[in-house]
Amino acid sequence: MLVLGIESSCDETGVALISSETGLIADALHTQIDMHRAYGGVVPELASRDHIRRAVALVDDVMAKAGRSRSELDAVAVTEGPGLAGALLVGNAVAHAIGWALEIPVLGVHHLEGHLLAAKLSDPAPEFPFLALLVSGGHTQILKVERFGSYKLLGETLDDAAGEAFDKTAQLLGLPYPGGPHVSALAEKGASGAIELARPMIHSPNLMMSFSGLKTSVLTAVQSAENPEDETWRANLARGFVDAVTDVLAAKLIRAMKETKLERVVVAGGVSANKQLRARLTDAVRRRRGEIFFPPMRLCTDNGAMIAAAGLARLESMSEAEREALKRESAFRVRPRWPLETL
Ligand code: ATP
Ligand code: MG
Ligand code: FE
Repeated sequence: MLVLGIESSCDETGVALISSETGLIADALHTQIDMHRAYGGVVPELASRDHIRRAVALVDDVMAKAGRSRSELDAVAVTEGPGLAGALLVGNAVAHAIGWALEIPVLGVHHLEGHLLAAKLSDPAPEFPFLALLVSGGHTQILKVERFGSYKLLGETLDDAAGEAFDKTAQLLGLPYPGGPHVSALAEKGASGAIELARPMIHSPNLMMSFSGLKTSVLTAVQSAENPEDETWRANLARGFVDAVTDVLAAKLIRAMKETKLERVVVAGGVSANKQLRARLTDAVRRRRGEIFFPPMRLCTDNGAMIAAAGLARLESMSEAEREALKRESAFRVRPRWPLETL
C-alpha cells in the first residue's frame, strides 16, 4: 500500500510518501519559521496563506522525488487536528481534493499520534506496548500506549509545555524563535550547577508536571543579573534551565516506568530533538535496564512523514470491509481541539 501524508497544523507544510513494503519513500518540508520570526511566534492568518502557497507544490515535489504517479496512491493521510483551524483546513482541502479525484480514502490523523509514531520510522523501531513521553511546543504528556490507537494519558503539564518553556526562555535571553535549538546550543557552553533553577513538582507523588514557574525563575534571574549581557552568565543560565527541564522529565519518566512496569520508552515531539534531553533520558532509562527510542532527529518536529506513518498504521490495522467503508466515509472535518485519549 502507498500512502501520501500531509501535515499543516501549524507553521510547517509537510508532505511524505510511505509504502507498507519499503517504508518512507520520499518527503518534503517547508517551514515558515523565517516568516513568523519577526512576530516572535506563529501568526495564524499568515500560516494559512503560506500553506496554500506550498501544499500542492510539495505534493508534486514528493511524487516526483519518489518517481511515482498519483494514480498509484491507495490513501491520503492528513492531520485533522489539533492545531490552527485555518492551517488545518488547507491541508485537508488538498487531501480531500486528491481523495475525491482518485476515489481513494482520506484518513484524518491526530497530530500527536503522528509525533508518537514518528519513532516507528527509526531503526530499530519500538514494538507495542510502550510508555511515551511526548514533549512538543504545545504538549507535555506521559502516555501508556498498549497498541496502535490506544493512548492512555497518565500525566501531563498543568500549565506550559516544555517546548513553550524553551521558547519563552529563548525570548528572555534575546534568542530567535523558535528557541529550543538556540537555548540548547547556548547551554552546551554553560556549566551545570553554576545557576540552579526551580524544578517545580519534581517530587510530587504523581505524573503531573509544571513549567511556568521555571520560566518565572529565568525571568527573575535575568532581572537581577549584574550583567545580563555577559556570555558566560548567559550560557550558565541556559544550562541551568536545560538541566531543570531534563531533571523533571527524567524523574517523571522513571516514576512512570515504575508505576506501569513498562520497560520500553518512546520520547517524541519537537523537544525530543534536544541533545541534552536525549542523553539524560537515555542514561536514566538504561540504568533501569529499559529500552529507549526516539524519532530520527529530523522527524522530531512537525513533518509529513509522521502523518503518513500514522495513516499507514491505521490502514494496516483495518479489515478489508473497514477499508471499503472508509472510501464512502471520508468526511471533511478539522478538529482544532482534540484530546488524544478520545481516539
Ligand atoms: P504540538 O505538536 O504540541 O501541537 P508544535 O507542533 O508546535 O506543537 P513541535 O513541532 O513538536 O511542536 O515542536 C516545536 C517545539 O520544539 C518548539 O517549542 C521548539 O522550541 C522545540 N524544539 C525544537 N528543537 C528543539 C531542541 N533541539 N531543543 C529543545 N527544544 C526544541
Ligand atoms: Mg512548528
Ligand atoms: Fe507538533
